[in-house]
Amino acid sequence: MQKIYFDNAATTSMKKEVIDAMMPYFTESFGNPSSIYEIARENKKALDESRDKIAKLLGADSKEIYFTSGGTESDNWAIKGIADVYKDKGNHIITSSIEHHAVLHTCEYLEKNGFEVTYLPVDEYGQVNPKDVEKAIKDNTILITIMYANNEIGTIQPIEEIGKIAKEKGVIFHTDAVQAVGHIPVDVKKANVDLLSLSGHKFHGPKGVGALYIRKGIKIKPLLHGGAQERGRRGGTENVPGIVGLAKALELAVENMEENNKKMIELRDYIIKGVTEKIEHVKLNGHPTNRLPNNINFTFDFIEGESLLLLLDMKGIYASSGSACTSGSLDPSHVLLSIGLPHERAHGSLRITIGDENTKAEADYFLEVLPSIVQRLRDMSPLYEEYKKQKNR
Ligand code: PLP
Repeated sequence: MQKIYFDNAATTSMKKEVIDAMMPYFTESFGNPSSIYEIARENKKALDESRDKIAKLLGADSKEIYFTSGGTESDNWAIKGIADVYKDKGNHIITSSIEHHAVLHTCEYLEKNGFEVTYLPVDEYGQVNPKDVEKAIKDNTILITIMYANNEIGTIQPIEEIGKIAKEKGVIFHTDAVQAVGHIPVDVKKANVDLLSLSGHKFHGPKGVGALYIRKGIKIKPLLHGGAQERGRRGGTENVPGIVGLAKALELAVENMEENNKKMIELRDYIIKGVTEKIEHVKLNGHPTNRLPNNINFTFDFIEGESLLLLLDMKGIYASSGSACTSGSLDPSHVLLSIGLPHERAHGSLRITIGDENTKAEADYFLEVLPSIVQRLRDMSPLYEEYKKQKNR
């Protein structure tokens, strides 16, 4: 049976070039970059070069890039680190209701510790209205944290506009760009952001490594106290192979972005058209055009997303309902509820996130097997039964 991987927002496979770039730092050149002999110096050089590369690809300065263990740490550090430094100035934070849990749960933690958080609503497509951000800013607002692109429904936020407002009002602006970096062009200056989180495993790099961009002049408290690594702001021996892999993966992603995105948008729209033509009672979630090139999110009425996933798995198709972090929980996705779906409809979601390796033949196989799976589940659904009775009355 063929295996089709359609869950690239959860994680991606590593490119061979990335593994090749990392290998020497696991084997012959394994030194600690803080030591002074040759194999350590080689590591320090690799670390510096990786930082330069990532900075250049994001339009930042090398001194503004700090390596972390991934998106969750970067988000935690940005939010807690700013809250801690600026708590005497104010205790109000603005975010959105559709953030990843790395942001939402961090904000909830701060709420329990004396901070006030505004969770902005989104429209039916999952977009934050910049005017709402402006209206929410108060004298005691110290931070705005709004994601660049959503991990479930793929909607891209008006980051530049929000950043402009934050700048004008003198409020620090962080964006969780974990799903955007390596997928769409991201330039920290153009985006008007002060802090930006990214994670390697979302763009064919290694897991457990990421970065936080911190604009020069922004004060932040360390999240991890320890040695003098990362300019004294993030202690811990650097994950050199991971960091080298992160830089290589981003370099490849940016180099091939235009070509890959053209191909992925074609495939994405082909699948959307196929599914909506072949299946009744289906809705595309997220923005029709302003969405990530790799993201498709559907709601199928009368069925459970989890059952759909199991049956797809039996056909060798790996997809997701909601995000990987919320799957396994029976709660419906907070993102789908935020765009206005009622509970029962939010349960029937399917997220397909394609990668540059996916082919039209795979899309055709998916389009061939999906209608009968959906029908089989609907035939077992009391809700569907009820719907048909009402319709025939
Ligand atoms: N933020 C977003 C938008 C994500 O999609 C994810 C991962 O799913 C994270 C943060 C967490 O990143 P990591 O898995 O590197 O901790």
